[in-house]
Amino acid sequence: MPDYDVAIVGGGCVGCSVAYHLATETSLDICVVEKEHHLAQHQSGRNSGVLHPGFNYPPGSLKAKFATEGTKRMKSYCRQNNIPMEELGVLVVATDQQERRRLSEIQDQATENGVETEILEDRAAIREHEPHAAGQAALYCPEAASVDSQKYVYSLAGDTEDLGVDFFTGYEVERVLRSGDTHHVETSNGTITASYLLNAAGLYADKLAHQMGVGEQYQIVPFRGEYYELVPKKRDLVNSMIYPTPDPELPYLGVHYTRRTDDKVIIGPNAVLAFGREAYENTQFDVAELAETFGYEGFWRLFSSSKMVRVALTELNKSYRKEAFVDAAKSLVPSVEPDDFEKSYAGIRAQILRDDGTLVKDPLFEHGPRSTHVLNAVSPGLTSSLPFGEHLSEAILERME
Ligand SMILES: Cc1cc2nc3c(=O)[nH]c(=O)nc-3n(C[C@H](O)[C@H](O)[C@H](O)COP(=O)(O)OP(=O)(O)OC[C@H]3O[C@@H](n4cnc5c(N)ncnc54)[C@H](O)[C@@H]3O)c2cc1C
Repeated sequence: MPDYDVAIVGGGCVGCSVAYHLATETSLDICVVEKEHHLAQHQSGRNSGVLHPGFNYPPGSLKAKFATEGTKRMKSYCRQNNIPMEELGVLVVATDQQERRRLSEIQDQATENGVETEILEDRAAIREHEPHAAGQAALYCPEAASVDSQKYVYSLAGDTEDLGVDFFTGYEVERVLRSGDTHHVETSNGTITASYLLNAAGLYADKLAHQMGVGEQYQIVPFRGEYYELVPKKRDLVNSMIYPTPDPELPYLGVHYTRRTDDKVIIGPNAVLAFGREAYENTQFDVAELAETFGYEGFWRLFSSSKMVRVALTELNKSYRKEAFVDAAKSLVPSVEPDDFEKSYAGIRAQILRDDGTLVKDPLFEHGPRSTHVLNAVSPGLTSSLPFGEHLSEAILERME
């Protein structure tokens, strides 16, 4: 008999949410295996902490569905469990006519997705929300909120533990072998056996999937997102969240301002190629992982477009030159100065690419024999974690039957 019915690799918001939903619905024996000694040490604890209500995602996409539902569910979870949350709303500002037109398109998408928005038509209306923001017009979405993502993951994991799930932290999965109906999960601390395996290993999910013969047409390319924060005496320049008008072709939002639940105002993230999957500083290199990225055909196909090369160089400039970062931030709040910014933390996005160079923009998972692999828990993966985890748990139960 295997030790567990289901072993979940990865103690981020996705792994914990799947464990929570499986344990709520069934009496299966479940464990979560996490390589770090604490949960939420990577993407789930190094993000902007924003609940994105789904106003700018294509209607009908999984991303739109999970983000709109996820925002509502997470707000109610945070209220019930006293997780810090600020329901401040977001302002998406347009600085020229082309962006103003884009705001109308975004508002149409928002309406289709069932998200309430309002267009503020002039500077006076913008100033009522954000006295220091730039822009000729803005889209205001009151449903956006910020949360403490690490506290959320720990609370969810606590609830899951209360339902009987075992957590193994400090156990790095090195290899998974299968004999008959049993997976032998070889970790840095010994072997755990399970009949079903969920791979929610975030930045390393593709590696585990490939080792198990799944998702071989995809590879994760790590993109670092760096933040600055406003010095305390300048925090009142920003009341809530101020975003630029997003470029629909890019998978990230562009540098923006977020007031966090601890009252800090963070600016970022940019999106720069990380020289290692956990290379959080721009001076850190993991030579083997960098060689894997540079040896990947999908990477070169993505960067065969001149637009992507331009974007990459601009982002690199923002990483190494504070002035470039501040200039981008000034386009949203013109009165900020370089001395108002101090360096903050960084996170790394597990961006999945297809061999043909396509950036996968929707959540993606694939099944193998008695296993499911979360290949793309793309942003807003934190916001989406409750419905996405439930969706995965239903898919797993169907397959186990
Ligand atoms: C800079 C940045 C900003 C973001 N901002 C937002 C935002 O504002 N709102 C939002 O909704 N989303 C945001 N996101 C996206 C969101 O953070 C992610 O989509 C989400 O956290 C993904 O969760 P996960 O559980 O899949 O991955 P992770 O949190 O990365 O968890 C994976 C876990 O697997 C573990 N692991 C890996 N390999 C192994 C192994 N071999 N053995 C055992 N364990 C292993 C890792 O240690 C890790 O804890 C942001 C992401 C980044 C990077």
